[in-house]
Amino acid sequence: MEHKLSIYNTLSRKKELFVPIHNNTVGMYVCGPTVYGDAHLGHARPAITFDLLFRYLQHLGYKVRYVRNITDVGHLENDADSGEDKIGKKARLDQVEPMEIVQRYLNAYHKNMEALNVLPPSIEPHASGHIIEQIEFVKKIQEAGFAYESQGSVYFDVEKYNQQHHYGKLSGRNIDDLLETTRELDGQDEKRRSVDFALWKKAAPEHIMHWPSPWSKGFPGWHLECSAMGTKYLGEQFDIHGGGMDLVFPHHECEIAQSTAALGKETVKYWMHNNMITINGQKMGKSLGNFITLDQFFTGNHASLEKAYSPMTIRFFILQAQYRSTVDFSNEALQAAEKGLQRLLDGYARLQKIVPGTASTVELSNLRDRCEQAMQDDLNSPIVIAHLFEAVTAINTIVSENASINSADLEELKATFKLFVEVILGIQLENDAQTGADAYKAAIDLLLRIRQEAKTNKDWATSDKIRNELTAMGFDIKDGKDGVEWSLK
Ligand code: ZN
Repeated sequence: MEHKLSIYNTLSRKKELFVPIHNNTVGMYVCGPTVYGDAHLGHARPAITFDLLFRYLQHLGYKVRYVRNITDVGHLENDADSGEDKIGKKARLDQVEPMEIVQRYLNAYHKNMEALNVLPPSIEPHASGHIIEQIEFVKKIQEAGFAYESQGSVYFDVEKYNQQHHYGKLSGRNIDDLLETTRELDGQDEKRRSVDFALWKKAAPEHIMHWPSPWSKGFPGWHLECSAMGTKYLGEQFDIHGGGMDLVFPHHECEIAQSTAALGKETVKYWMHNNMITINGQKMGKSLGNFITLDQFFTGNHASLEKAYSPMTIRFFILQAQYRSTVDFSNEALQAAEKGLQRLLDGYARLQKIVPGTASTVELSNLRDRCEQAMQDDLNSPIVIAHLFEAVTAINTIVSENASINSADLEELKATFKLFVEVILGIQLENDAQTGADAYKAAIDLLLRIRQEAKTNKDWATSDKIRNELTAMGFDIKDGKDGVEWSLK
């Protein structure tokens, strides 16, 4: 495949030319949502970032198997090894089955993703549906000698692993520091060191979600599902593993350790991480009072929001930043994005109405190449958008008849806009406008068919009335050999 796509690999800390493991197919795994609450901006950014990558890889001609998991088990309250399962807790409070909680929030998540025009992944496996695979994975780690059992739970032996491999290679954390600060465990704890992490946890009596295993009735550790499901669906070695930067440590670091321990080799070729979103310069959090769900953005129903923002405004806003830079949400910034998006879409709509001239006096022929180059430079969507804005300026010059474009250049410009605006950036045109335009065309066609029937019946009064009144409204009706043609003068 001929392309020069480079992506930043968190593992090597540099941009690398993307070369897939198997010729024309790409395996891509992205850590998906935990489903015990409404989706918020923190969910939108990785979804849109990896949607952009998914779309672009397909545009390059790759067949992509995109796996995005559903974390519906084993997420404890402090994201480590203790506390109550978040889904179980919500189920207890709402007096429903845990799987009702999962389904409720998963349905809502899918609705939000569809609104953001995020394409569904190829496979969306649930952690709860892969308990057997996770147990098998723990056994492999045990057989390789990197896990120990303690009171019905199984822990990963970080120190032992680090003697043969490198724990900390992804996050850059210093294992000696980690071991040093965790040396003081006094034997009260099940774990040998606090840096060790759970592969399997014995369930406390009040823990609702649990499964049988060789060690205890319990549940898998947080990091295990991605190792087990990633390798199940993409093979022991696959191309891309992505997620938010907050997952680098401990989640992805632990995934690398688990997979390397169980399989004896590196599983992932390129690690990709999107940066975080802040709100008015602050971290987002329920306790900070700035926790805004996607539904609240779409409806404007939150005290911090001056108005509602459409899903496409949110999508465009996120794409205006390269995925590795931070994004700060504010009403001001969102309104600027809304205006920018409108300007782009207005330009795109005007482009459709341009009548080609004999010569091109605007230089737009390399727009496609420049947009491709920006995408190939680690998915630099803000540069793509900047190029499209330059083209909008040129379109406006043509529309105001201060420049012209020939027919071949016009077709190329239309194709480039369609490709980058709709297919790659995934900007959906306003549905209302589209439906409105389609309905309007259908209504005129219907009137002209009634006129045709009247003519066939020699009902000249009706056929003349339709023609004359449409003409008076500004329509140009032409009777040709192949039927009636119409346009608005
Ligand atoms: Zn994960």
